[in-house]
Amino acid sequence: MTQRTDQQKLSRRGFLEFSTAVAAAAVLPSVAAAEAPAGAAADDYYAKLGVPTVINAAGTYTYLTAAVMPPSVQRAVAAAAHHPVRLKELHKAAGEYIAKRLKCEGALVTSGASAALTLATAASIASKGNIKPEEIPQAALERGYEVIVQKSHRYEYDHAMILCGVKVREVVTVDDYRKAFSDRTVMTNYFNDAAPENNPPTQIDRETWLRIAHEHNVPCHLDAAADMPPIENLWKYTGMGFDFVCFSGGKGIRGPQNAGLLLGKKKLIDLAAENDSPNSEAVGRGMKVAKEQIAGMVAAVDWILSQDDATMQREFLDRTHVIQAALKNVPTLKSEIFMPKIANHVPHLFLRYDPKVVGITPLQVADKLRAQNPPIELNPATGNSGRFHTADENTIVLATWMLQPGEAEVVAAALRKLLTQPNVS
Ligand SMILES: *Cc1c(COP(=O)(O)O)cnc(C)c1O
Repeated sequence: MTQRTDQQKLSRRGFLEFSTAVAAAAVLPSVAAAEAPAGAAADDYYAKLGVPTVINAAGTYTYLTAAVMPPSVQRAVAAAAHHPVRLKELHKAAGEYIAKRLKCEGALVTSGASAALTLATAASIASKGNIKPEEIPQAALERGYEVIVQKSHRYEYDHAMILCGVKVREVVTVDDYRKAFSDRTVMTNYFNDAAPENNPPTQIDRETWLRIAHEHNVPCHLDAAADMPPIENLWKYTGMGFDFVCFSGGKGIRGPQNAGLLLGKKKLIDLAAENDSPNSEAVGRGMKVAKEQIAGMVAAVDWILSQDDATMQREFLDRTHVIQAALKNVPTLKSEIFMPKIANHVPHLFLRYDPKVVGITPLQVADKLRAQNPPIELNPATGNSGRFHTADENTIVLATWMLQPGEAEVVAAALRKLLTQPNVS
């Protein structure tokens, strides 16, 4: 420790002497000296590029850059940018730190939940057939490896598994599921937020799904990408025995958007890391997480563990009430606060009204808000039936959890204006 500090002092002095000499000679202007110090106010590249910042009344949607990082996470990202490190050492230390804090055996910071699912699949392939990273996806294709999934859990992220060379094998009943296991089965995947009303409905619950996979010695991945809050979910599912659980780093945990967590059994997480960047010739090579995002993800875990669910939910609800109160006198309008049970488990405001009476449809409201300055983005279920709970073409949907201080009032005033004077611009 002392020795290191001395070395740092020495090298720092050496650097100062060198730069002083350069400055005194005044021959070559140093590039570093010409720039503002790293702590100075940054150039606003959104303004430079003409990209407007938006008021996010939608939620943690990828197309809206999901969450804004809290100040402590922003600072961790900025501080990590100052120095190089050995990327594998950082990955290992970050994983160990996160595993300890989230009460699981192993953890890997990934470039998102989708990458976590790919790396879980690659680890399962490696574990099944002693397959090396450079043999994926070819070996999985040749051997006809499969991942078992309930038909109602098929989703857009299946792609994240398929790119490892596996086929997705669909099952519906428990009986189908038991019969689907073979010597080609490498993993099963459970979509934590699969809607019970899906067609066909989810017939196999989490516990049963996991138990049967383990009876066949097959690892089980749970996709819980958007399923925090509550905070305890960060250890609940690994605690149940899931071999892998993924979370998106940039959603409720409010880490960097291009970060995520793969949590689970140590041996399997180590295999996932072997299939990840910075290893070349690995399926995860293109899923690189930079040092800044690794540090930011660790800081986000620290941040979320310093929060409590009741206080966060109270804040989201208070903001929701600000908007609800401003719209009390809009004719025919009925508001409802809806809490999704699993994913995005935060208050959503449903504003249902008769567009013929009010003079503007929910989709028109969304368009006008999107076009104003600053633009306001409502939840994409606005004016859409079947997308979200009971919302339909006569419903505005919004969520307040991603609003910044003061923005609930701005959204409330803008909605009030459009819904009471739709023709005044
Ligand atoms: C958002 C999401 C993902 C992808 O998460 P990223 O962190 O953006 O990769 C995967 N699965 C589900 C269910 C999600 O909601």
